[in-house]
Amino acid sequence: MKANEAVQVFFNRAADILEMPENQRRLLTTAMREVTVEVPVEMDNGELDVLIGYRVQHSNARGPMKGGLRYHWEVDLDEVRALASLMTWKTAVVNIPYGGAKGGICVDPRKLSRKEKERITRKFVDQIHEIVGPDKDIPAPDMGTNSETMAWIRNQWEKYHGFNPACITGKPVEDYGAKGREEATGRGCGILAFKMLQRLNHDPRQTRVAIQGFGNVGSHAAKYMYESEFKIEAISDISGGYYREGGLDIPEALSYVLENGSLAGYQNADPISNEALLCLDVDLLMPSALGGVITEDNVADIKAKYIVEGANGPIHANADETLFKRGVTVIPDILANAGGVTVSYFEWVQNRQYYSWDLNRVRQQLDHVLTSAFEEVWQTANEHKISLRTAAFMIGIRRVMRATELSGI
Ligand code: NAD
Repeated sequence: MKANEAVQVFFNRAADILEMPENQRRLLTTAMREVTVEVPVEMDNGELDVLIGYRVQHSNARGPMKGGLRYHWEVDLDEVRALASLMTWKTAVVNIPYGGAKGGICVDPRKLSRKEKERITRKFVDQIHEIVGPDKDIPAPDMGTNSETMAWIRNQWEKYHGFNPACITGKPVEDYGAKGREEATGRGCGILAFKMLQRLNHDPRQTRVAIQGFGNVGSHAAKYMYESEFKIEAISDISGGYYREGGLDIPEALSYVLENGSLAGYQNADPISNEALLCLDVDLLMPSALGGVITEDNVADIKAKYIVEGANGPIHANADETLFKRGVTVIPDILANAGGVTVSYFEWVQNRQYYSWDLNRVRQQLDHVLTSAFEEVWQTANEHKISLRTAAFMIGIRRVMRATELSGI
């Protein structure tokens, strides 16, 4: 099943409960605008390469559109479309005044020099600058992009439109970024894992955790959860998985990555494959790398009782249903990883006010937004005896539909 089809299945499960007519479903699931651009770039060896970039603007019913920019070799229009619509439901679930969008370039960032990455980024901005901006569509980091990429985007966009740091979020802190933005997505996953376990009377200290992906989301989730005394028994990145019964020393693993660029060669754990990590006998699984990693093929082998979706779309629709029937509690991506867009929103607010919040304020506000959203989703799920995912979609869909009705179609 392709990524966008999976989102449609999730959407329809919630729309069925809401008894939403077909024409409204079409209205809410169709992207407002989809742009595919050519990104010609001169590589360091003097050769010309022509990449393909995408920006899908799904909905602006609730405010300017918001969504990350991904550099990955699997990026295609279907994936960007799926991720753009997830952003619409995500910003609605946590009730921040944004719509949803997503962008991407089909390229392997590991094979690019820093200068090549910069040239690609600037060229992409040349191609899309007219349709993005602080009141239209505000990009942010995603897989393969980071605060440095955001600084290039801002600089290039401002060449056309003048000074306005709110045109992009996830910027370096010293360059109009927000304190706490980098950690926000992973921290948010940790906060929500904590809330869920509280509700289920499960002690974090007795909770064995496996995290797939040790990039922005996975590493910050690991750090927060380690500090909250979860037992993180497995972590992984593209180089493979690393397991230690009883718990890994996360600060040491973080320092290792800082020094070596990845977990490759990490010695203080047993090596396992990324596939095996997903099926470990742990209590809580946090897929925080790619989409589509839990499918009908491996769902029977998943042993975790709790799953927190750090990544976007890590569980296929059919596998999701199987997990629900088996009583596995899944915090869905549109809630679980919403910490990033929430602090991006705080960054945008600060930029517009020319004012900077301290880290404590950012963390407190993040906790407040995520806790309110979690309680609402939890209550809706219990009321209707449905999964947290369907509950989150119901809340998101209701808000977007209401905004659409209020503004006139
Ligand atoms: P990142 O590029 O910082 O890190 C990605 C991690 O995944 C790296 O550790 C990488 O080695 C690993 N990885 C890549 N391919 C892999 C593979 N085939 N098998 C196992 N591991 C692999 O990206 P990120 O920002 O941490 O994003 C991860 C996920 O979280 C994505 O699905 C993204 O859409 C989602 N997300 C990110 C943010 C954010 O603020 N960065 C916000 C919301 C959602």
